[in-house]
Amino acid sequence: MCSSVDIEIVLKSHSYLSKSILIAKVQSYLAKFKVENYLEKNSIISDFSTEEDSFTSLIHSIVIGDVSPIPVNKGKLLDLNAHKINWYVYTLDTDGPTTQVQADEDGEITLATHLTLPSKELFTLWENLYYEDNIKENILQYGKTMMEFSKKGINANIISCNRVILLHGPPGTGKTSLCKALAQKLCVQMRDVYSSGVLIEINSHSLFSKWFSESGKLVTNMFSQIKEICENSNLLVCVLMDEVESLAHARDQSISGNEPSDAVRVVNAMLTQIDQIKKCPNVLILATSNMTEAIDLAFVDRADIKQYLGLPSVPAIYKIYHSCLVELLKANVIKCQNEKFETVNINRQPIQLLDDMQEHSKQLIKICEASVQLSGRTLRKIPFLAYALFINGTKNPDLRIFLDAMDKAVEKEH
Ligand code: ADP
Repeated sequence: MCSSVDIEIVLKSHSYLSKSILIAKVQSYLAKFKVENYLEKNSIISDFSTEEDSFTSLIHSIVIGDVSPIPVNKGKLLDLNAHKINWYVYTLDTDGPTTQVQADEDGEITLATHLTLPSKELFTLWENLYYEDNIKENILQYGKTMMEFSKKGINANIISCNRVILLHGPPGTGKTSLCKALAQKLCVQMRDVYSSGVLIEINSHSLFSKWFSESGKLVTNMFSQIKEICENSNLLVCVLMDEVESLAHARDQSISGNEPSDAVRVVNAMLTQIDQIKKCPNVLILATSNMTEAIDLAFVDRADIKQYLGLPSVPAIYKIYHSCLVELLKANVIKCQNEKFETVNINRQPIQLLDDMQEHSKQLIKICEASVQLSGRTLRKIPFLAYALFINGTKNPDLRIFLDAMDKAVEKEH
């Protein structure tokens, strides 16, 4: 089977040049990028300082994806000549989210946020999430297949496909981030099917936080706006419901309390509305839950994919820390003497400490081993804590000093 690789050309602004001209420009750039035409997989190139103005004024970044189907032996480098390239050309929306709010006597309550895709806010989110067993890649393939089947009018009663994805697992394991990043990737990679996209994030928390008697009406109002958006069949509409268990909780609590009717009515209104917008072929529902046991909600029950996201493994921790260190080195917050870090295969555990590894790589691996049981969210805070608390005021600390500080920060976090 011919393997392929995705390459995204992110433009600074809309260009009148045709897609083929833009691709030709990037192809000739990539050809001289490395003499042998080898590139790093899963990387983002955005430093074009050596290029001519005509290139730098056009191109924001080039995103190199992974080879698909994913080979068993994943090396880090990519031979462009060996694969079919899928090119995607787009600009990022810079407007940021707009909010759907409702005023009351205490102020405003945010019901939902709308983000035009592909958004600058979500750029690089996908590339910075690390999961073993090709979880990310498989979810993207599922998502693409669902939306393709739907666009082609495949009958969901014959081939079961509800266009609902549920990610569940402990807090801080990247569920919300992965949902958002998936929406962005689908929008970029399905341009030929859906000309643009939007991510609607429903704020179910705020809906249940107060005045239940009004909430039923609020839910209906909010969804009538969403339905209008869905009418544009060329728009990919991703609806994100974070922590869906809050719906089930609100209902269960009210049933056991004295005033059951309002809360039950709101939850039921919400579920009915979700069932209705789900009928639109261009809608994908993304839900997250911190609970691992079953949630008694029909639409979650019928999810096509229920993916568990657990705490990161040692190789995933290594990748997260590595990305943090690269960011700090790039910004000259820490310095190093040309040290290169070991490359790690996320699917191969444990990472072996080899004698010929450089000391700083060995040290980082040991820090990763000490960081098991910490969530992705905590891991991404460790470098900050290390800098704030454990470098003793050293300006531009050396990498080794900084790694010692990270070690202490991990200990503190435990
Ligand atoms: P959740 O929804 O599961 O509570 P979030 O999506 O809010 O988690 O993630 C919190 C932070 O932790 C984000 O900055 C995210 O990038 C980071 N994070 C969590 N898991 C991972 C992972 N596996 N790889 C990289 N970053 C992660």
